[in-house]
Amino acid sequence: MPLTPVLTTRWGAERSWRLSTYESLDGYAALRTALTMAPDELVALVKDSGLRGRGGAGFPTGMKWSFIPQPKPGETPTGPAAMPKYLVVNADEGEPGTCKDLPLMMADPHSLIEGVIISAYAIRSHLAVIYVRGEAVHAHRRLTAAVEEAYAAGYLGTDILGSGYDLELIVHAGAGAYICGEETALLDSLEGYRGQPRLKPPFPAVAGLYGAPTVINNVETLATVPFVVRGGSDWFKEFGPEKSPGPKIYSLSGRVVRPGQYEAPMGTTMRELLEMAGGIRPGHELKFWTPGGSSTPYFTSAHLDVPLDFDSVAAAGSMLGTTALMVFDETDSIVEATLRFTEFYAHESCGKCTPCREGTYWLVQILQRLVEGDGRAADLDLLVDTCDNILGRSFCALGDGATSCISSSLKYFKDDYVALLPPEEQARLGRSLPIEPVGVAS
Ligand code: NAD
Ligand code: SF4
Repeated sequence: MPLTPVLTTRWGAERSWRLSTYESLDGYAALRTALTMAPDELVALVKDSGLRGRGGAGFPTGMKWSFIPQPKPGETPTGPAAMPKYLVVNADEGEPGTCKDLPLMMADPHSLIEGVIISAYAIRSHLAVIYVRGEAVHAHRRLTAAVEEAYAAGYLGTDILGSGYDLELIVHAGAGAYICGEETALLDSLEGYRGQPRLKPPFPAVAGLYGAPTVINNVETLATVPFVVRGGSDWFKEFGPEKSPGPKIYSLSGRVVRPGQYEAPMGTTMRELLEMAGGIRPGHELKFWTPGGSSTPYFTSAHLDVPLDFDSVAAAGSMLGTTALMVFDETDSIVEATLRFTEFYAHESCGKCTPCREGTYWLVQILQRLVEGDGRAADLDLLVDTCDNILGRSFCALGDGATSCISSSLKYFKDDYVALLPPEEQARLGRSLPIEPVGVAS
């Protein structure tokens, strides 16, 4: 297997974010190669590499690009094929625990810009937008400066490197709403509307920005593209499992000795990553962890050897998500952690659909009274019932994701919930209990 680091290889260089540093470390070499290829060849290369989206869902990148309707030779294009094509970079990294795209943009913004130019060329787009999370003012500034450098050096603008290809790239700051990381809410926000998810299908590949065909890719996905072009698909496929190959940035936070970003091939296990991060803090034991941020069901010490790739994590009952590994030890209350996550979802719910808007509010109320020692025996069933009424009934993934921490914590650590109940309520457990109406505080 080839060695990592790949994606983070330039991060340690002095002033790694400057164009001169990037160029001295083979930067923009992949673009020169890509511009000698036909756009369809690039789509086929990325398809063949097996690269899957790093924003969380793991959708095959080359396949997404191939969904963009293109004019057919010899025919006058009509409908979406006749419209302009857009490339939008989802840089609205906001999932709790997730910290890979912002460090990437800070340390190596030109790898993203190079990936954007190659990908836009592949889908025959002449306008790309990087939508950066509103709070990340530092990343916005760094990207803006890097884009200016790229324009000045002829990597952006008209007739890029004498190829005849034109591309404009805009860096746009969001306003700090988590829901704008949902790709269609992001599009609404870009168009100047309040960011709320749109009905899918149609997917953005057919009707996206201003109703035109749009590819929306995550930062890490696009920053990987130049390496695919340079290394080739066979080289790329040597990293990790056949169905989810490639190098990957894992972010470890919480109760580890050295929290941070660790690059390793897809399919690396938590046990191996913990070793890289110095292990759990001395004198303590791992209790639970998230494989991919707060929207993904918790794992426990029983899952340390699950290969962290899309399919293996799904088979083990969770989701790879954003590879945000939040680590908790025996001193942490899983119910309190779950309450914090649920408060986040209730706060960030955009309010468009009832199950999520009302459900997350009620989940907070129930968890809060459990944490405060005022819980009722029926609350455990009520949590499950409320989650059942959100999961699969919400308009977008935010509602579904909000239930993951509750369902999985009840699955693995139900006793921790029971221990928070007052003794008289604990005594009622196991008896047939009516689900009582939930009052705000009775
Ligand atoms: P999804 O599975 O609906 O879609 C994934 C991508 O594939 C989208 O770009 C979608 O447009 C495209 N797609 C899917 N089917 C398609 C089709 N038939 N035709 C054309 N395109 C198609 O997932 P999603 O709702 O976009 O994202 C959910 C994920 O986002 C979760 O897995 C979660 O981990 C992740 N997430 C990430 C962050 C973050 O900060 N990076 C935050 C919250 C959630
Ligand atoms: Fe909005 Fe939540 Fe419904 Fe998504 S699930 S549309 S965030 S209310």
